[in-house]
Formats: sequence, structure tokens, C-alpha cells
Amino acid sequence: HAKRLGRSEFAIYADEMDSDINARRDIERDLRKALETPGQLSVHYQPLFAAGDFRIAGVEALVRWRHPERGWIPPSVFIPVAEESGLIEKLGEWVLHEACTTARDWPVDTVAVNVSAFELYNPAFAVRVANTLLSTGMNPKKLELEVTESALSDSHGACERNIAAVRDLGVRFSLDDFGTGFSSLSRLHDFTVDRIKIDRSFVAGFGKANGDEAIVQAIVDLARAIGLKTTAEGVETGPQSDFLRSIGCDELQGFLLSMPLPAGEVERLWTQTEAKRAAT
Ligand code: C2E
Ligand code: MG
Ligand code: MG
Ligand code: MG
Repeated sequence: HAKRLGRSEFAIYADEMDSDINARRDIERDLRKALETPGQLSVHYQPLFAAGDFRIAGVEALVRWRHPERGWIPPSVFIPVAEESGLIEKLGEWVLHEACTTARDWPVDTVAVNVSAFELYNPAFAVRVANTLLSTGMNPKKLELEVTESALSDSHGACERNIAAVRDLGVRFSLDDFGTGFSSLSRLHDFTVDRIKIDRSFVAGFGKANGDEAIVQAIVDLARAIGLKTTAEGVETGPQSDFLRSIGCDELQGFLLSMPLPAGEVERLWTQTEAKRAAT
């Protein structure tokens, strides 16, 4: 195929590759700087709602980066660069410390923080989490770390040892984006997690006659049978919320209920929500 490309087409390809590599290099350099300069990085918190009564049961911490020249850069762009460059360890530690400090006294059951599989490869991970819990005063029972299926399928076992050690501290784990990886439903019971988060692609498929309702119902039933909680991601419409509640999904997360918000706005939100609930 490459042979059939004309000279100019090849030049365009090479240019694109160059600019891609340059963009990555710039992101890495600027992210390194952002980690040393206060103010560029922040954490937003997306409320997680109890499906039964819409109480705010928890929040998920999501990192935000406001680049001084380029504005907001989405995590889907800079997290992969952070993972490849090794910066993810520093970034992950910063987010965990920030979330524990900010949300320590919030009236929620769960403060969820995303953890990259790359962080779990380092045997020092569990000790770092223990130190952060100590230095921030965060209750380990309130903290839930979100990992993806890739973190549970590494062959050398470092991830699983880290997870076991952190669970011994009382911290819970959830399996993020469930259904997008390679693990089968029957392997779920091997995983040392407390919750599965059903990927938003299934929720987006509701009403399209592709079986997504049946798949999600099966996931929720199986999770309940083996003692795991379920959270549905990407709930954007009333009918999606109604269906998920009808099948007994435990928690709902999505733009229908709340966007990820800066800390101050979350605090306002549950003051309002609690006032409304008290009034009804
Ligand atoms: P995730 O952990 O699955 O987080 C949920 C993502 O879905 C967030 O995107 C959130 O804004 C988005 N979302 C929430 N509700 C809806 C909805 O109703 N519809 C749609 N379309 N999207 C919704 P965000 O903040 O851009 O983060 C993307 C991903 O980046 C996260 O996916 C997570 O994998 C990663 N990420 C974010 N923050 C961190 C972090 O601090 N550390 C690590 N390792 N990864 C992070
Ligand atoms: Mg997550
Ligand atoms: Mg997710
Ligand atoms: Mg997701």
C-alpha cells in the first residue's frame, strides 16, 4: 500500500507523523511543567447518585488541565502521554492527594479516584497510598480506586499484589469501563474488586434493539449474585435512568444527573439536594 502513495501523499503522511510526535513531546514537556506549577491542574468531582432515592452517594475525582496557551486539554489526550512518559505516577499521586484533602469531610460514602495500570506496576504504589491516607487524614473506607480490566490482567502480578495490599488498608476497588476489555463475566469472581462500573457505551445503546439492555441486566444480576455493587456510567436520558433503576443497578453517573464540577459547586449541589429531599 505504501508503494502506491505518490510523493506528495507520502510527504503529507510524514508531516502528519512529525506533527503528531511533536505534539506528544510538547504535551509531555508542558505536563511536566504543570506538575511543578500550581494552578494549571485541578480536580473536578462528578456526583454518583444512589439509584433508589437519588441521594449523592459519592463523587468521582476527574483531573483537569488548563494549559496557559492552549486552554483546557482533555484527559483522553494527556493521560496516555502521561502513561507513556512515566509522568502518570506523579500525576496520580497529585490527584489522590488533592481528592483526599478536598473531599475528606464531604458527607458521602465514596470518594472515587482513577488509577492507571501503569501506577500499579510499581511495587511502591501501596505504600504511597498508605502515606497519602495518613498525611491527609482521609478515611480509607471512604476511598475507592477505579482500575480498568488491563490492571487485572498483567502477567507479573504486581498490580494484583498492590491491589491486595491497598485493600488491606480498608480501601475499596472498582472495575471501570466494564465490558470494554477482554475479561469475561465468568472471570469476575477472581477479581478483587467491590464494584463494577458499566461502560457508558452499553447505556448509549439502550433503545437500539442491539441487546444492550439484556447485557446490562445480566451484568447487574451477576454482580449482585457475587456480592458486587454496580454503577452505570454515561446516564444521559430519563429512559436510561428509569431502566437502570428498574433492573436494580445501585448507582447512576452521567450528565442527566450532574456534570463533573469544581469542588465548590459540588458543595453547593448537595446543600440544595439535601434541602429539597428534606422538604419532600
Ligand atoms: P472514566 O474514569 O470512565 O470517567 C468518566 C468519564 O466520562 C469522564 O470523562 C466524564 O466526564 C465522562 N462522563 C460522565 N458522564 C457522562 C455522560 O453522561 N456522557 C458522556 N458522554 N460522558 C460522561 P473525562 O473527565 O474526560 O475523563 C476521561 C477518562 O480519563 C476517564 O474515564 C479516566 O479513564 C481518565 N481520567 C480522568 N481523570 C483521571 C485521573 O485522575 N487519573 C487517571 N489515571 N485517569 C483519569
Ligand atoms: Mg473512572
Ligand atoms: Mg469509567
Ligand atoms: Mg468510561
